[in-house]
Amino acid sequence: MALMITDECINCDVCEPECPNDAIYQGEEIYVIDSRRCTECVGHFKTSQCVEVCPVDCIPLNPDCLETKDQLYRKYLRLMSSVDNEGSSSSSADQ
Ligand code: SF4
Ligand code: SF4
Repeated sequence: MALMITDECINCDVCEPECPNDAIYQGEEIYVIDSRRCTECVGHFKTSQCVEVCPVDCIPLNPDCLETKDQLYRKYLRLMSSVDNEGSSSSSADQ
């Protein structure tokens, strides 16, 4: 399952740089997790890094994104191969 950020988010920006998949971004009011990019940190870490750092504990599992660990790992592999195809320089980095 991907994770989601609830409206208890205080926009502290601590989680965004911790995400190894660039799945977290600032939405209109609070931070948001792109479920297509969240692997629960599978492939990178044993625990969800955003959950570890969030000071208000507002990042639960997203019940709309039911995925097994195996599916999460395949998502991770897909994300990694798309990074390879684009070249390893991050497309979001804007000098
Ligand atoms: Fe990113 Fe991991 Fe949090 Fe998912 S669980 S949003 S991959 S830091
Ligand atoms: Fe919001 Fe928690 Fe992320 Fe801070 S760490 S921006 S409170 S989700």
